[in-house]
Amino acid sequence: MIDLKGKVAIVTGASRGIGLETARVLAACGARVAVIATKENPDLALELSSTLGVEVRSYGCDVSNTEQVTVTFKSIIETFGAVDILVNNAGITRDGLLMRMKDEDFDDVIRVNLRSVFVCTRAIARHMMGRRSGRIINMASINGIRTQAGQSNYAASKAGVIGLTKSNAMEMAGRGITVNAVAPGFIQTDMTAKLPAEMIEKYKAGIPLQDLGSPRDVANAVAFLASDEARYITGQVLGVDGGLNA
Ligand code: NAD
Repeated sequence: MIDLKGKVAIVTGASRGIGLETARVLAACGARVAVIATKENPDLALELSSTLGVEVRSYGCDVSNTEQVTVTFKSIIETFGAVDILVNNAGITRDGLLMRMKDEDFDDVIRVNLRSVFVCTRAIARHMMGRRSGRIINMASINGIRTQAGQSNYAASKAGVIGLTKSNAMEMAGRGITVNAVAPGFIQTDMTAKLPAEMIEKYKAGIPLQDLGSPRDVANAVAFLASDEARYITGQVLGVDGGLNA
């Protein structure tokens, strides 16, 4: 079992899906966790802290908004005393073919999926650099590596996350901070539940491990990258995709 006792983690986009499961797994490994979503959810934090026996607090914050992130991260550092782990997970889709894609569909996806990673990482970088330690894990996607029609905004945002991950890893390596990305394949969450059933079956047939992934599969990879055991890994993209990108 991965041991994160004594660590503090921030997980963005943690009201459901991969982010919620990541918060749950990090807390189960002993970390105290600040969960961020668009809306504050004290009931969720209470449920996690009472079932897992560690401090979990909920914060409402648009992670693409610099002012909101500055205020929220300051409050988290003051409340928890320090932050060891940042999981930049929040993300959205606005799929559509290029010719029909509206400017706001492109801009919103880049803002929430890519700008947020820049804004949140910058907001924690000074704190982590001062402590000469930290773990940053960014949620990329198979679609940032190999993709399909109808996702020019999403694919661009996730390829951007991979570039940002590698550059930030180089910038912070000398200060004991690792920066890695996880690239999930097809994971069963609200995000993918929107897709037509026949499309899901088609995707499933093309996955070497012949199954969709679960949020837990992704959360376990995040927990490993957040642990001391991953101390010599930085600037990497870990696929959790059932072999799709093999
Ligand atoms: P989801 O839609 O179930 O949850 C998204 C979370 O992000 C929610 O908690 C929502 O409140 C939060 N969020 C959205 N916009 C936000 C904002 N501006 N500020 C703060 N929080 C915000 O999504 P999911 O399927 O759990 O995906 C999580 C991450 O994993 C995303 O980055 C997604 O792109 C990535 N991903 C998912 C899959 C998949 O198959 N589900 C595959 C590859 C990558």
